[in-house]
Amino acid sequence: MSTTSDLDFAHSGTDVVIVGGGLAGLFCALKLAPRPVTVITAAPLGEGASTAWAQGGIAAAVAEGDSAESHAADTIAVGAGLVDENVALQLAREAGPRIRDLLEYGVPFDRDLEGRLAVSREAAHSARRIVHVRGDMAGQAIITALIKAVRATPSIKVIEGYFAEALLTDGGSVVGLQLRQAGVAISRPITMPARAVVLATGGIGHLYAVTTNPVEASGLGLAIAARAGALIADPEFVQFHPTAIMVGRDPAPLATEALRGEGATLINGQGERFMLALHPLAELAPRDIVARGVFAEIAAGRGAFLDARTALGAHFAAEFPTVYESCISEGVDPATQPIPIAPAAHYHMGGIAVDMHGRSSLRGLWAAGEVSCTGAHGANRLASNSLLEAVVYAARIAEDIGGREFGAASGRIDELPMARNAALGAAQEAELRQLMSGNVGVIRNADGLAAAVRRFAAMEAGASSTAMLNMATTALLVSTAAWSRLESRGAHYRSDHPAENPALADRTMTTLADARDTAASLSDTARRSRPVVA
Ligand SMILES: Cc1cc2nc3c(=O)[nH]c(=O)nc-3n(C[C@H](O)[C@H](O)[C@H](O)COP(=O)(O)OP(=O)(O)OC[C@H]3O[C@@H](n4cnc5c(N)ncnc54)[C@H](O)[C@@H]3O)c2cc1C
Repeated sequence: MSTTSDLDFAHSGTDVVIVGGGLAGLFCALKLAPRPVTVITAAPLGEGASTAWAQGGIAAAVAEGDSAESHAADTIAVGAGLVDENVALQLAREAGPRIRDLLEYGVPFDRDLEGRLAVSREAAHSARRIVHVRGDMAGQAIITALIKAVRATPSIKVIEGYFAEALLTDGGSVVGLQLRQAGVAISRPITMPARAVVLATGGIGHLYAVTTNPVEASGLGLAIAARAGALIADPEFVQFHPTAIMVGRDPAPLATEALRGEGATLINGQGERFMLALHPLAELAPRDIVARGVFAEIAAGRGAFLDARTALGAHFAAEFPTVYESCISEGVDPATQPIPIAPAAHYHMGGIAVDMHGRSSLRGLWAAGEVSCTGAHGANRLASNSLLEAVVYAARIAEDIGGREFGAASGRIDELPMARNAALGAAQEAELRQLMSGNVGVIRNADGLAAAVRRFAAMEAGASSTAMLNMATTALLVSTAAWSRLESRGAHYRSDHPAENPALADRTMTTLADARDTAASLSDTARRSRPVVA
């Protein structure tokens, strides 16, 4: 690996550029070796990637008695009618080979006494099939091993501390990127020609006021693909984790579901167990139902808390040291006090629409990992399927690109006319995040969504920085699709359309032009219905 500090991006020497240093990006780069590639990451390798924070592990039907068919069936059941069944089956079938690749790259997956891969069970999986590392350390172990492998691979050039803010196109093909230095208030955009661009920029959690995702998960990859004209699939489907710990940290630390498995209860500020009235399984109901229960208590002003005082009490610190540390460091002792919680944006099922090879609708553009939408998750993601999808599609993209000869990347690219100041207006960012959490979050309705759509359209049209422009673009795509889906399905819940509508069991396929049209018609409607004051 070589790292560049000069600004000679126009002559990076490679025709393949991968944007993102999480699992999808690094795995793709390694799979392409020895073909030269350039990896661009907004944050230094190992930072700013959700991959490093994954706790559970990777779903893979590798245990005796388990099968890819059973794994696919579980994926399809959770996806609420929108999973592409063939995609789910192929994903499950390729899990074994990709786990072997990860072992070769040095990931120390846990093994049982006979030396076989140890597998654990997670919600909605019908078998034990989660490969993991030292309990809850999978993400950290994976990223550490891959960074080491990348640093030992001379064909991979890594440029850290630059983010992609636009795709450059020529006649509908992607021909390069516009980059900018991260963390600098005012900086010049830099253009980089490329023949093949792989976006592996992760999710959109940071667009929400409460999230488990790093700040880099602000939907930039999705936005730049959409602005270049790429087809976007299922953007309205965002998974919320029901129990993020609200101790003033951003991103919010997680209180693992295992706490509820151990008997911890959910109570409101009046000490009432509100889940008892909502589902026969109470606190152990499916994740989206618990998230809605928690959201409703907070919206009603009663607050929501995870109460482990009776279930764990003095054993809390020994049994859940990570959660204990998150609480105690902010002055909450979970052995004696209820933990304040809220639902947090956790995973984006939607993304850049890609085919079985990871190709987007634009020539020259591929996408892998959370920024993409393969059809594997439908309206809701099965636990631990996201890391699997990242490696399976990263490998397919490497295979698809690997054999191609593109010729030299063109240097004749004009800079896009963009605002020079890359700094975000903190107030506008906070407003966007509050609006996403309040109106495009766990419980949605037509009025709230319409208001959000109109505001995001205005923010997009009047953005004073490229970062704000990109955040508003992704927020607009998510909110317009949520406004258009007049039903509740999977992670998308509309209080004004609380039932699933079998006639709407189709995936959303949209573009930024569609989203802008929806926003324009909503603005017209609002104007027409405004009372005329004489
Ligand atoms: C707390 C937590 C726990 C999780 N646990 C699990 C689990 O147990 N199992 C599971 O399967 N999934 C889990 N997930 C989800 C999973 O971690 C992610 O979906 C997955 O890691 C995404 O990988 P990725 O490579 O697509 O993106 P990331 O790992 O997020 O990497 C994205 C990369 O892109 C960079 N980037 C972003 N924008 C730009 C830009 N514009 N220009 C340049 N670089 C950019 C970032 O800096 C980063 O390097 C969890 C997620 C969280 C937040």
